[in-house]
Amino acid sequence: MRMERSQELFQRAETCIPGGVNSPVRACRSVGAAPLFIERAQGAWLYDADGNALIDYVGSWGPMILGHRHPVVEDAIRRVLERGVSFGAPVDLEVALAEKVISLVPSVEMIRMVNSGTEATMSVLRLARGFTGRNVLVKFDGCYHGHGDSFLVDAGSGVATLNIPGSPGVPEEVTRHTLSLPYNDMDAFRQLMAERGAEVAAVIVEPVAGNMGFVRPEEGFLALLREETQKHGALLIFDEVMTGFRVALGGAQGLFGIKPDLSTFGKIIGGGLPVGAYGGRRDIMEHVAPMGPVYQAGTLSGNPLAMAAGLATLEEISRPGFYENLEEKTLKLVEGLAAAAKDAHIPVCCDSIGSMFGMFFTKGPVRNFADAKTSDLMRFNAYYAGMREKCIYLAPSQFEAGFVSMVHGSAEIEATIQAARSVMKTL
Ligand code: PLP
Repeated sequence: MRMERSQELFQRAETCIPGGVNSPVRACRSVGAAPLFIERAQGAWLYDADGNALIDYVGSWGPMILGHRHPVVEDAIRRVLERGVSFGAPVDLEVALAEKVISLVPSVEMIRMVNSGTEATMSVLRLARGFTGRNVLVKFDGCYHGHGDSFLVDAGSGVATLNIPGSPGVPEEVTRHTLSLPYNDMDAFRQLMAERGAEVAAVIVEPVAGNMGFVRPEEGFLALLREETQKHGALLIFDEVMTGFRVALGGAQGLFGIKPDLSTFGKIIGGGLPVGAYGGRRDIMEHVAPMGPVYQAGTLSGNPLAMAAGLATLEEISRPGFYENLEEKTLKLVEGLAAAAKDAHIPVCCDSIGSMFGMFFTKGPVRNFADAKTSDLMRFNAYYAGMREKCIYLAPSQFEAGFVSMVHGSAEIEATIQAARSVMKTL
């Protein structure tokens, strides 16, 4: 694979952007590689600055469920371009997107648009604290809820990839209000709520974890969170920034039949443009300014370009059969990867829900972050390098999920499995 142009760009980037990137994992440091600079994308494919064509399983870290350059999304964006790109005043598209999300996600009775998943989680936490008059936040090890101060305690994603225990700059006065427990540990959760339930403002969870690699919630785990929060007057927040409209049309909450008090969204809801959102019970959302006293605002919030891309995306994914088709392809991929590993006598643990998938280099089971960390990272790194050399573009970290889009066809899935077969033999 040629990389001269990417390397040249990265050298320039390193002189003017910290680490050469605007989000840490993109630098590919933990896998000992240099990033590819992307020139353009089409469907399931990325084309880099050196002209390499790669099959994309990152999908811009989740948003591109329709694939790149979907014509309906592009048309919607184009129509907005003819009206103007930002007004800082209400537009019809914000109302339409709010109504659409409310129609798809029953727990959401009102919703506020922001610009990223991080902004959504920071805002929802303030709201939960403002509403309950309590400060304690309960989260789970290896879950990632953006880079807000309160969430950087045993966090997943880039924090896990770079093995950062916390972050300098986050005051201890802030993180002492955050309690983090092992994912899927029902006894630990019961015990914590029995001891401190009355202080807990909110429990936040990735209802399917994707930021410590892919880890599914065990039977009864999410239901227990619902039951215990209700019992102790704490709010349950599903962080569906990744799972929302990804694992099912109604998100993980629709799939598992659990109704959280509040939810956060991002990624797919913006169709590839910068959008986040938080929403939920009307009586809680009515506490948000200007209706209520909990302050939150944004110069570009509800931006018409982003609203149009999000709305077009949600309309496309609402078509009958959309999720069945995606799930079928993803299962085929995951089964193929598992078979390739088995034939090469490499212990792996593969899983998927909807079009979100993961593979750990351990025999498993992987139920939580501690289990995820037993994955053989040297082997992952070699796998990553081998796959990239064969033009399969995976997330450059063991602690991330992969995503399949609507336009990954059987040719792409088959090519990926064949690449894995040959790479696995070398590990
Ligand atoms: N919450 C979850 C579950 C996420 O996966 C992410 C990002 O990956 C975030 C929050 C933060 O979103 P953003 O990167 O848009 O700030």
